[in-house]
Amino acid sequence: MLVDKEFGEVIVRRNAWSRGVKFTVSTSGRLSMSVPKRTPDFLVKRYLNMNREVIRKKLPINDPTTQRTRDYQKKVLMKKAKEYLPYRLEYYAKLYGYKYEKCRLTHANTRWGSCSSNKTISLNIGLMKLPEPLRDYVILHELAHLNHMDHSPAFWEEVGSHDKNYKIHNKKIKLFSPGV
Ligand SMILES: [Zn+2]
Repeated sequence: MLVDKEFGEVIVRRNAWSRGVKFTVSTSGRLSMSVPKRTPDFLVKRYLNMNREVIRKKLPINDPTTQRTRDYQKKVLMKKAKEYLPYRLEYYAKLYGYKYEKCRLTHANTRWGSCSSNKTISLNIGLMKLPEPLRDYVILHELAHLNHMDHSPAFWEEVGSHDKNYKIHNKKIKLFSPGV
């Protein structure tokens, strides 16, 4: 990590396999650089300076204050999620007779939840920002994946048997984004 006066905290990843320098934006809105493994700090800074113009034009970097606000929001959300989501999942699993292995909390930007073939259910901490019926819908959706690893009619029938408004919920949830 280096601190730049324009871009704030910059994440530096040194990868054995990376050949050139690559700039991306992390989920927190920080600039992230991947450079070859043994790149010294002064070169990292030089690369950054050389590419300032391109970064400014092409990448949506947040200023340091926004970055810190996001970190804080994420922390608060994670705390809320820990105290709620595993219990809510457990509650519905018991109620409808599902067996899963593990509940994992994630904060990816794209998915509300997922269910793996080894019966691990992942729930996005962003669910804590949703109205309760939508939150429950996601939980019931992932639980139904324990029996159907697809979105077949049989899958939807099962979701519908636990959430009769699942169609509305599935539509409404698209208005929200899981990212913090
Ligand atoms: Zn699904």
